[in-house]
Amino acid sequence: MTDIYDTLIIGGGAAGLMAGCALSRAGRHVVVLEKQDRVGRKLLSTGNGRCNLSNLNAAPARYHGSRQAVRMALRAWPPKKVLEIFEGLGIPCSADDEGRVYPLSRQAASVLDALRLGCDENGAETLTGFAVTGLSRDGRAFTAVAADGRRVRGRTALVCAGGLAAPKLGACGDGHRLLEALGHAVTPRFPAIAALKTPPEAVRGLKGLRAEVSLALLVDGQAVREEAGELLLTDYGLSGIAAMQLARSANEALRAGRRCAARIDFAPGRDARALLEARRDSLPRRAMEDFLNGIVPRRLGQTLARAAGLELSLPAARLDAARLGALAAVLSGWTLPITGTQGFDQAQVTAGGASLKDFDLRTLESLRVPGLYAAGEVLDVDGDCGGYNLHWAWASALTAAAGIDSGLSEGRA
Ligand SMILES: Cc1cc2nc3c(=O)[nH]c(=O)nc-3n(C[C@H](O)[C@H](O)[C@H](O)COP(=O)(O)OP(=O)(O)OC[C@H]3O[C@@H](n4cnc5c(N)ncnc54)[C@H](O)[C@@H]3O)c2cc1C
Repeated sequence: MTDIYDTLIIGGGAAGLMAGCALSRAGRHVVVLEKQDRVGRKLLSTGNGRCNLSNLNAAPARYHGSRQAVRMALRAWPPKKVLEIFEGLGIPCSADDEGRVYPLSRQAASVLDALRLGCDENGAETLTGFAVTGLSRDGRAFTAVAADGRRVRGRTALVCAGGLAAPKLGACGDGHRLLEALGHAVTPRFPAIAALKTPPEAVRGLKGLRAEVSLALLVDGQAVREEAGELLLTDYGLSGIAAMQLARSANEALRAGRRCAARIDFAPGRDARALLEARRDSLPRRAMEDFLNGIVPRRLGQTLARAAGLELSLPAARLDAARLGALAAVLSGWTLPITGTQGFDQAQVTAGGASLKDFDLRTLESLRVPGLYAAGEVLDVDGDCGGYNLHWAWASALTAAAGIDSGLSEGRA
């Protein structure tokens, strides 16, 4: 251990490890301080273990919170440049049709190993089991104190301690507390990318069923966001990527006391009425119990028929214009109230965080405490599902690392 490091990196997650690689490669003597017994645990769970590490379509519109900070970070670190960094770390990547980028190995463990090696090979130190409980600046140096009393000193400090999502993987809000203690504002935090809750009776018996849908979030009756993709029904509501993408807007609206609902189209891109008319004519004896089977799973079809006010024993031949219209309306627009979302324990990302108003967006250096920087989810930026959050972690970490490096060179810290 050194007397004084160039940089104390608080949090050995995606952002902290990327900053550790960049700074140590630039010849800076850094230490990554990680609360858990190993670094990068959350990274291992990303993309279902495959690590969707970026998205070729990364643009400010895919982000929420401080879009200006995202704009600056993306300008300096667009996907192409970040992928070159990964290539240099030994992680070539490829993208799918929707621009989602994965390592060729399709293994999150490869990405974590490469980041760890990138730190080790350039002499970055790592202290695990080091839960930073206090960060202070005296004179020109920062001191980080761990829960067990250990102390380290650095000329600069970079807070990469993440947000509140997925506490089992290390999230705890410490980063926000450390920054607040140094005079930073933290915006309201709530889960983003999380499953939606409906009244349980609305989805009773449907747990585990899946359907390809288009899904709209209605706020006070108006559609504010639409998503397409696979819907997974659960015993508490709606999951799957399409539903989880709506959580941020739903939480925002519910927190403002507005009414939320999800409108689900189970026949996206098709004329539901014409579809059902043709079906009635070709399958006149089929009862409602089985009528929608094949368009949607049978059990879901029964729920939809009931929601349209139809008896399950009713044969298709008796679908008159009104009944057919009612069934088509439910098939293409089943609407369920949204009562909330899953909490941070099940969410993937935190909306809100340390306010970017307190940072120089070119370097992510604090405007309140010179030499203090922050990157990643601890900041008030969250992205859509699809690799955008990890891209922010890398891009913000690289922005901060460049800022730290030039600050140290100029002797500002
Ligand atoms: C299940 C799951 C799947 C996901 N999949 C994807 C995906 O495929 N693509 C994508 O783009 N995003 C994904 N995300 C989101 C993405 O993982 C995060 O946005 C990203 O990891 C944030 O990086 P970070 O470095 O800011 O924070 P983190 O990765 O959370 O790292 C923060 C680190 O700081 C440590 N720490 C906290 N407090 C202290 C303290 N006091 N002292 C020392 N250390 C501390 C934590 O233990 C942790 O290791 C997923 C998230 C989850 C939960």
